[in-house]
Amino acid sequence: MHNVAIYPGSFDPATFGHLNIIDRASTIFENIIVSVVNNQNKNTLFNLEERVLMLREIYSNNKNIRVESFDGLLVDFVKKNNSKIIVRGLRAVSDFEYELQLALTNRKISDNIETVFLMPNEEYTYLSSSLVKEVAKLGGDISSFVHPTIEKKLKDYFSNVRQNRKI
Ligand code: ADP
Repeated sequence: MHNVAIYPGSFDPATFGHLNIIDRASTIFENIIVSVVNNQNKNTLFNLEERVLMLREIYSNNKNIRVESFDGLLVDFVKKNNSKIIVRGLRAVSDFEYELQLALTNRKISDNIETVFLMPNEEYTYLSSSLVKEVAKLGGDISSFVHPTIEKKLKDYFSNVRQNRKI
């Protein structure tokens, strides 16, 4: 019955925490659509296309995991894809308030869509995209935080920033 689940987020960039949620979701639902939000209000390091392409590269061999972008109302995107399930990740109590607000708002807009929360492995509960960006910016080792595809993109980005500063 619930064969398509939508996992929305900024993924700027995706960390091992996000990938862990995707892997876990794919053991429950037949198909996952990782949905990268085009949020004009959020200042992202990577543009929408880059964020989508990085995830597509990582999941290029998984037929049941698709990566798409969307803008507008999440519930409309969910319905358009014949889904009823939104997947979100919960790391700590600090995520709860925002996630509850989001889930209840979506439910208010569309009562027949459910939000399912998954917990990542403990080792990823402290991980956030912003922390990873901060470490990468300072030249720290991020290999235990992100997939090699993303590690390379972040390194390239910040080495370009550094070079441009020198000019
Ligand atoms: P958004 O801007 O929609 O919060 P994010 O990319 O920051 O987008 O997060 C998308 C979802 O993934 C959220 O539900 C968030 O709580 C979850 N998430 C982010 N980092 C992790 C992590 N390390 N482990 C598990 N879930 C995570």
